[in-house]
Formats: sequence, C-alpha cells, structure tokens
Amino acid sequence: GKADVECEMLVLGAGPGGYSAAFRSADLGMSTVLVERYASLGGVCLNVGCIPSKALLHTVQIVDEARNLAAHGLSFGEPKIDLDKLRDYKSSVVAKLTGGLAGMAKMRKVKVLTGVGTFLDPHHLEVVADGSRQVVRFEKAVIAAGSQAVKLPFMPEDPRVVDSTGALELRQLPKKMLVIGGGIIGLEMATVYSSLGAEIDVVEMMDGLMMGADRDLVKVWQKFNAKRFARVMLKTKTVSAEARDDGIYVGFEGEGAPPEPQRYDLVLVAVGRSPNGKKIGAEQAGVAVGERGFITVDKQQRTNVSHIFAIGDLVGQPMLAHKAVHEGHVAAEAAHGEKAYFDAIQIPSVAYTDPEVAWAGKTEDQLKAEGAKYGRAVFPWAASGRAIANGRDEGFTKLLFDEETHRVIGGGIVGTGAGDLISEVCLAIEMGADATDIGRTIHPHPTLGESVGMAAELYEGVCTDLP
Ligand code: FAD
Repeated sequence: GKADVECEMLVLGAGPGGYSAAFRSADLGMSTVLVERYASLGGVCLNVGCIPSKALLHTVQIVDEARNLAAHGLSFGEPKIDLDKLRDYKSSVVAKLTGGLAGMAKMRKVKVLTGVGTFLDPHHLEVVADGSRQVVRFEKAVIAAGSQAVKLPFMPEDPRVVDSTGALELRQLPKKMLVIGGGIIGLEMATVYSSLGAEIDVVEMMDGLMMGADRDLVKVWQKFNAKRFARVMLKTKTVSAEARDDGIYVGFEGEGAPPEPQRYDLVLVAVGRSPNGKKIGAEQAGVAVGERGFITVDKQQRTNVSHIFAIGDLVGQPMLAHKAVHEGHVAAEAAHGEKAYFDAIQIPSVAYTDPEVAWAGKTEDQLKAEGAKYGRAVFPWAASGRAIANGRDEGFTKLLFDEETHRVIGGGIVGTGAGDLISEVCLAIEMGADATDIGRTIHPHPTLGESVGMAAELYEGVCTDLP
C-alpha cells in the first residue's frame, strides 16, 4: 500500500537513545520521524527511571541529613510525610523534562507520531494508536525500543507486588517491604522507602550487593547503611509468593533464607531488565534478533540490515541512559554517511544511594581477572577537609593506573556526590591522562573533587599536605 508519511530517518522509541538519534538526525538535515507509543517523550529514563528516582532520592537524602544534624547541634522534629505532595513534586520534575523534549522536537521539525510501531518490511513501519493506523516509509531507521522489567513467574498479580515503575508511583508507605534484587535499581528504591520509614529486607542470588562495583567501594556503602536494612539475604533465591489478606507471603531458599515464608506489605521485583527486540516486527524488516531479544550491532550501531541501526538497552549492557545517548548520536551520524563509531574507552556506572558509589573504566576486579599489571592509589576522605567539614568522611577515591605508562585506566569513588565526581576520572581515561597530568592539575580547595588530584599525587609518591 501507499505510505501516509515519508521520511529519510525513522526512529522507533523516544527514550534517551531514540530522542538523541532523532535530534542529531534532524540537526544533520534529514527529515525525521520519531515514533513513540506513549504520549510523553523520554522513555524509561525520564518517565519511570533515572529522573523520578533521583527526584525522590534527593528529597529523602535531605531528610536523612537533617536527622544527622542532631549531632551538630541542630534538631528537627520527625518529618511529616505527605505522599501526594511528594508524588506531585516527582511528577512535576518529569513533566518539566518531557515537556522540554517535546519543545525541542518541534523546534527541530522532528515529526512525532504517537502509537505502537511495527515493521512491515525493510522500508515500512506501521503506527497503530486507538482507532488509527498510519504507515511510514523510511530510507533509514534507528531502533531504540528499550527494555522492560523482568517478571518473576510465580509472583501473584497484586497491587502489593510492583516493579520499579510501580515503586516510583509511591502509592503507599509499607511497614514491611521486600526488595528482590540487590542491584542498583533495587537499592536506590530501597533507599527511598527506608528513609520514608519502611522496614526493608533485601534478597539477592549472588554473594554480594551492587555487583559490578569493586568490593572495597561497596563495603563503605554497606557499613554506612548497616542499620538501613532489617535483613540482607545473600546467595538466596526467592522461590514462592502467596497473596493473603494481611500481606504477600514470600518463600526463600539458600544461604540467607529464613525457614518460614515472610510477610510483606510491599514487594519490589528488581531482578533485571529484558530488551524489547521481539515486539517490534524486526523479522519483517529482516533484522536479526537474538534469543533473549537483543539486537546485534557493529561499531556503527548497524544491524545486519545495512540501513537499519539499533541503540540503547536493546543492544546490550550496560543498560544506561548515557550509553544510549552516545549510541544514538553515532547511529544518526553513521546513517548520514559519516565515519562515526562507538569507540568509548569507558562507560561510567553510578549507584545513587547514600553514599553514592561510582566507577569508570576498568574495575580492580576486571584487572585482576585479566591478570593485568596495574597500579592503585587510594585517597581516603578521612584526610579531606571538605569531607570532614561535611560530616561525611566515610568515603574514598581510588585511581587505577597502567603500571608502565602511569595512565589512568579506571577509578572508583564512594562518598557523597561520587556520581558527579567520577566525571573527571571519565575524562582522564578518555584523554589518556597520566598520574602527573591529574596530580599537577590545580583543583579547587576545599572540595571533594580535590580527592581525585590527591589520589594521583599519592600514586606519584608525592605526599599531599592539604587536609
Ligand atoms: P527506553 O528508555 O526504554 O525507551 C524506549 C522507548 O521505546 C519507550 O519510551 C517505549 O515506550 C518505546 N517503545 C518500545 N517499543 C515501541 C513500539 N513498538 N512502538 C512505539 N514505541 C515503542 N540509567 C542511567 O543512566 N542512570 C540512572 O540513574 C538510571 N536510573 C534508572 C532507574 C530505574 C528505576 C530504571 C528502570 C532505569 C534506570 N536507568 C538509569 C536505565 C535507563 O532508564 C535506560 O538505560 C534508558 O532509558 C535506555 O534508553 P533507551 O533509549 O534504550 O530505551
């Protein structure tokens, strides 16, 4: 049949990957159509991910800080929690950002089509919304359909069982809550709910929380949060769940498992995310989709069909917004005929817990596994004037170096604001900076950022004398 809309570039999915690809494509002069099933742009990250979680984490962190100020001679009463207002605040943050995106799309003349997109063949996609169907003919396409939360098959359909999207809705403040999965998403939500007063158990199949980060970093977070969780069950599987009037009863097996099923008012399932690759009719466009739903791409984000690209959570780990954005730019530029490649040396990760845990480049665990010869320097925040003044000197800054060249190849930071501080390490790795470059760079005093310079000076064998 005939197409209703024609374009040079079609982007499927308006998450961080998709809108970045669409905007770059339009900026390069291609007529661009962006297809999104939801009315609001921004995907998981803006609507039900990065942004609303940070709005809540910021708020509860201030509550926790205020509680700690009693030790500095300033006491406040217990916070009065108005869940409706807190939810409104979170929603207003999301609305500001998604509204901004819509404006930016308009400004660039990116045509946004709302509806579920399905490929019909290598050059056509149908977009179906209630009662309407449009067909788009495209010359090139970027698939950016993202991912969704993995479900546990034995969990009952019940409003007291939620995924991260449900947890961010903040419908209720449970007395007892179970978080299944000790990864970043689970632990961020656990932080929010525990600071709001919930008693929380965490269960994790592996033998540690926040896997992926070096254990020395995680240890500091864990020690600081020793009282935050009622129970942390490691090497433990969740095996059953039953909805009763008075709660969800969950059964466990493994090293940390209590013998009896436990009762919870709210259960958050945060056991990972699976790509949406199998739900978009990719096979009709000839695009190969792996068994688990991931789409394989080359360094230009190109699929096996040379005019169709794929980016973001859909193409693999790490499932992070900043990776998706970067890939979106590469895909749009490559589609435009430029020699653009995804050749990042490092992709940072951040757990926005309290304290934050951030890492970039090689981790020490990776270097050990590779049998690499590396150097290591750690600056403890107990020697940072600013951290002490903040009353938060539990953290540290670690840099990892190539032993031969003294170039920084990795780093990790645990402490307040670690997620912001890691950026300097990211830049240093990408630029091939060595210990001298970082150590001789004058950092502002007294800041937490100094700790990066100090760690580099320590590696050079220079004693730091700025407390
Ligand atoms: P998505 O954001 O998943 O967007 C895909 C879009 O495609 C969606 O809007 C979807 O509706 C649309 N779509 C899918 N199929 C179709 C179809 N057939 N037709 C039309 N539209 C379709 N990452 C970070 O970097 N930092 C964080 O702090 C962070 N926090 C997170 C917190 C939570 C609770 C969660 C769940 C995730 C978090 N992430 C974070 C991960 C981040 O959200 C994702 O990595 C990012 O959103 C991936 O972007 P994307 O463009 O690949 O896909």
